[in-house]
Amino acid sequence: METAEIRRRWLSFFEERGHTVVPSAPLVHEDPNLLFVNAGMVPFKPYFLGQETPQFTRATSVQKCVRTLDIEEVGKTTRHGTFFQMNGNFSFGDYFKEGAIALAWELVTRSQSEGGYGFDEKDLYASVYHEDEEAIAIWKKVAGLPDDRIVRLGKKDNYWNMGVPGPGGPCSEILIDRGPEFGAERDWEAGDRYLEFWNLVFMQDDLSAVRSKEDFDIAGGLPKKNIDTGMGLERVAYLLQGVDNIYEIDEVFPVISVAEDLSGRRYGANHEDDVRFRVVADHVRSALMLIGDGVTPGNEGRGYVLRRLIRRAVRSMRLLGVDAPTLAELLPVSKDRMKASYPELEAGFGRISQIAYAEEDAFRRTLSAGTTILDTAVAKAKSAGRSSLGGDEAFALHDTYGFPIDLTLEMAAEQGLQVDEAGFRRLMGEQRDRAKADAKAKKSAHGDTQVYRQVADAVGREVEFTGYDQTVTDA
Ligand code: ATP
Ligand code: MG
Ligand code: MG
Ligand code: MG
Repeated sequence: METAEIRRRWLSFFEERGHTVVPSAPLVHEDPNLLFVNAGMVPFKPYFLGQETPQFTRATSVQKCVRTLDIEEVGKTTRHGTFFQMNGNFSFGDYFKEGAIALAWELVTRSQSEGGYGFDEKDLYASVYHEDEEAIAIWKKVAGLPDDRIVRLGKKDNYWNMGVPGPGGPCSEILIDRGPEFGAERDWEAGDRYLEFWNLVFMQDDLSAVRSKEDFDIAGGLPKKNIDTGMGLERVAYLLQGVDNIYEIDEVFPVISVAEDLSGRRYGANHEDDVRFRVVADHVRSALMLIGDGVTPGNEGRGYVLRRLIRRAVRSMRLLGVDAPTLAELLPVSKDRMKASYPELEAGFGRISQIAYAEEDAFRRTLSAGTTILDTAVAKAKSAGRSSLGGDEAFALHDTYGFPIDLTLEMAAEQGLQVDEAGFRRLMGEQRDRAKADAKAKKSAHGDTQVYRQVADAVGREVEFTGYDQTVTDA
């Protein structure tokens, strides 16, 4: 089933059941504490916090998301994209646990010929918060799940809060067993055998204090209980398309095909190259979507994330043996796959591609300038009889020429030298601390978001917003 069809079925399923279809918000949200929208609920946050009243009690969306924290996972797991789409259904004081579980179970198990996704019931598991007896009883009643397919997990995986006082609650996730070739029996942690693809959050608690994800006080129950769910569109696509991971789905794989042609290497031939192919396809798509939503490359915050994505894509192509510019071949392919769902990409492509290609050019210049500096440093080290480059030299290459450390390591190794990586990391850490101190000063100077300020007012102090896995300053 094509990704576009999975999306279409989602929206019509929930629309037919009384949900208002809400278009995706842009990736850049007004909340300055959030780097990018990273979950379907973000645009609905004011409703969940009770700051605004929605025109509806049920809504559904397919939200564009970017999670920079997942960048190192890309290409290595089967399931993490930097950009992905989260299908959501939401209830604002309307249906609760039983309604949410029944809807999810119906859509997931209904046959494809009857408009569902047609997953085989016997492969499905539900994780629950270990104390949520109510959810356990509903999974048994509504889905007929036996005890051994209900997995009790703790706060880390199955309790949700926003990092600030306010709504919180247990969650329940639907997992699918992909089979013994993908991991050990009942190993829920690893994630690629028992693939989590849909998270149902039951907002029922009123949290009076939140110290961390796993450390909070529940003051009582919420007067109005809410539902927030998120299903990974790409994860369902890879399951239903019979491929091995999210990089092989119809919306992503064509970029890998072009990268194969450009490099003369074949996807599937060796693991290292496969990871590079996947990184290229993922990052090209993320760059496309980010520039489409107005982000431009820069040295901090959002712009730096975009810069890093483009550079990693260029660098991965280089490791696949292609030194020539490639974005002009890759980006249009990604755009052609995404434009059915995001027609604005077609209209904006002149601007988008110009920005992307200019960044590629700049990085290619960086690479050649940095290479000259690196060669000089190598020659100096060798004539001094040293066997490694100093941390300060690696840091200067990074700081001045944007030379990633892995590139320095690899190119030094090609010339028989090591690099003082510990020294490099220490200097990076010092720089990060300085940037954090700067950002903090800036933040208190400019004030915070509405949400943030109201919460801070309510508790009478500055609140550190930690509810999401990324903030503007952690890039
Ligand atoms: P995982 O444990 O696999 O990292 P998660 O628990 O962080 O996933 P949630 O925060 O529960 O994910 O998000 C809801 C859903 O969004 C997930 O069940 C998954 O289907 C999807 N999702 C989350 N992160 C990604 C990602 N980086 N790429 C693709 N889909 C994702
Ligand atoms: Mg995750
Ligand atoms: Mg998880
Ligand atoms: Mg989850």
